[in-house]
Amino acid sequence: MNYTPFKVGAIMKYKNVRITVDDKPPEGFKSFLEFHEKKRGHTAICKVKGCTNEVVVGAHVKKVKLRANQDPSWYIIPMCAECDKREDEFELNTDAFPIKIRNIKQPTTTIAVQLFVNCMGNV
Ligand SMILES: [Zn+2]
Repeated sequence: MNYTPFKVGAIMKYKNVRITVDDKPPEGFKSFLEFHEKKRGHTAICKVKGCTNEVVVGAHVKKVKLRANQDPSWYIIPMCAECDKREDEFELNTDAFPIKIRNIKQPTTTIAVQLFVNCMGNV
């Protein structure tokens, strides 16, 4: 798995991914927030554009309005509790540095298959 972060495009919109099964952080990390911090450094402020709340979670997000050939993966970004509950689309700050966590096109275990189904049901 390639965890390389990337820079956020100016007009890319994101949505929260609702996790309904236990999605474990990568090996060696206690949480997705810790994972993001270790990779990108500590950040105190939520990375959703326009938000200035305190970060409490490493949230799962996905890009929206994908064309057929675009990347359907999920990403981790530092987020506040309020933004983590948002159902609408939002932009990220340019320093959000989302980290790709899972490619739902290539499930490798039963859990991944279930996540795939859940994610598709969420579109
Ligand atoms: Zn926020």
